[in-house]
Amino acid sequence: MLTDKHVVVIGGDARQLEIIRKLSTLDAKISMVGFDQLNDGFIGASKHTLEDIEWSSVDAILLPVSGTSTDGNIETVFSNESLILKVEHLQKTPKHCVIYSGISNNYLDQCVEKAERSLVKLMERDDVAIYNSIPTAEGTVMMAIQHTDITIHRAKVAVLGLGRVGMSVARTFSALGAEVKVGANESHQLARITEMGLKPFHTDHIKEELKDVDLCINTIPARVITANVLAEMPLHTLIIDLASKPGGTDFRYAEKRGMKALLAPGLPGIVAPKTAGQILADVLAGLLTTETKK
Ligand code: NAP
Repeated sequence: MLTDKHVVVIGGDARQLEIIRKLSTLDAKISMVGFDQLNDGFIGASKHTLEDIEWSSVDAILLPVSGTSTDGNIETVFSNESLILKVEHLQKTPKHCVIYSGISNNYLDQCVEKAERSLVKLMERDDVAIYNSIPTAEGTVMMAIQHTDITIHRAKVAVLGLGRVGMSVARTFSALGAEVKVGANESHQLARITEMGLKPFHTDHIKEELKDVDLCINTIPARVITANVLAEMPLHTLIIDLASKPGGTDFRYAEKRGMKALLAPGLPGIVAPKTAGQILADVLAGLLTTETKK
């Protein structure tokens, strides 16, 4: 239980509501900032502004998955107010206060460092990334269905990268009956692809390997689908680029060649905000409970 823990939730989207629900069940005291347009009431949660928070009693601060912008602005879909996180806010918290965010940037890193507090980047955790790969794979299936006129079953699909997302995506498309090949650059990954019953290829040979695919799904956060590679691909190939912005595709050249290439960020929050929120809520509840036991 999180009895007597004071958690400040600042901004966010529907995912934050799942987190608030979970923390409220665990008996935490929750202060919500940037939720003035939300009508739901949560037991143990009250609405505040950044100015009226009692910072000296705060044990944890939860920021949205996006963290802050490069000038400290925190996005919220439940308010029109502007929310700017400042180092002075963090300095007023007790030394043990931990800041939780999905991702970070220079601004947030600097704020936390200057205030001498600690920051946990939830999206960098293996467990969160693996759980999140499930709604990401489902969202990719949705996009493939929406943007092609063929079935996934028997389609020739190439997945680039065998990380946490690549593995789930490759397995999902294979389970739907697609002919899946996976590109990777490490020998242990090529071995794993073989073990999964899929066709491995080294990304050095990407140009030859993408010559006959109907769908190419990229998860490698580097420019791998270059103009050179695109020039040899069939015109009908759909590219779904899941890698974080700017993706791994030369979108300018793809458009020039008349190919459909889609950058698809943030699929978990789009296709399954409730599940995506529950994933974060479960991991966060575990982390806060462990902190409480220390
Ligand atoms: P990950 O576990 O780090 O996987 C990335 C994979 O790419 C790794 O296997 C890595 O191999 C490989 N790689 C990197 N550079 C390469 C190169 N030049 N050639 C061949 N392979 C290379 O990351 P992840 O969690 O799967 O996430 C992948 C991307 O998807 C990230 O950009 C992430 O932000 C994004 N993402 C998007 C969504 C969405 O909704 N669109 C959702 C979740 C994540 P090594 O391990 O050998 O480096």
